Amino acid sequence: MSTLIQSLSALAAAGALMFSAPLDAAAPQHDVDGELFLINRQWRVSEYYVPQVRVAKVSGQVRNMRPDAAAALEEMFAACKAETGASMVSVSGYRSWGKQNLLYSRKVKRTGSKEKADEYVARPGASEHQLGLAMDLGQKSKSNLTASFGRTKAGRWAAENSWRFGFILRYQEGWEDVTGYEFEPWHVRYVGRENAEKIYQADLPLETYLQKIRGETLLSIVTGEIIED
Ligand SMILES: [Zn+2]
Repeated sequence: MSTLIQSLSALAAAGALMFSAPLDAAAPQHDVDGELFLINRQWRVSEYYVPQVRVAKVSGQVRNMRPDAAAALEEMFAACKAETGASMVSVSGYRSWGKQNLLYSRKVKRTGSKEKADEYVARPGASEHQLGLAMDLGQKSKSNLTASFGRTKAGRWAAENSWRFGFILRYQEGWEDVTGYEFEPWHVRYVGRENAEKIYQADLPLETYLQKIRGETLLSIVTGEIIED
């Protein structure tokens, strides 16, 4: 069993915790509009959370993001082009709760079970894309949203430089147990420049970083107690 599947079954075993998941108010964080609001398979936002977004002026599709993130994305795309010659494209930015719900239900149908679907698609309310702060990056004329994006010029540059624009690479190799996601070199999350620099230097998943700076217990996907029994 892969670590991720193990983690997911551990979470499912913790049932109430994950699935009757509290909405914003119950999460150990209080500012859903803040740059550091944590959202993952456990900490969800309600279907009523709809951020203000605008279209980022970059090439690609689904370009909506919250205004600060959109502005940062525009600068990042321009810098990537200037520094590497490669053109980044947006693949997927803001997704509403309803859209995520649709993607998830389709996956459940296709795979035959929620457990299977959970391996691929976040449940509605559990995707960072609903915050308007996440973007899936691609490189023009490459096939994107695969691990091979990490080996493209744009992908390598993004891993080293996206922090300069306020983005972090949210799902890195070796962090699967904490983030609940496989390696996704294309998925960046806006946290603001100051935070991004600190998180990049700390080289930690957002969950672990927040736990450290806030002293809050943000139960990570797999805690010792859950996985070991
Ligand atoms: Zn994504």
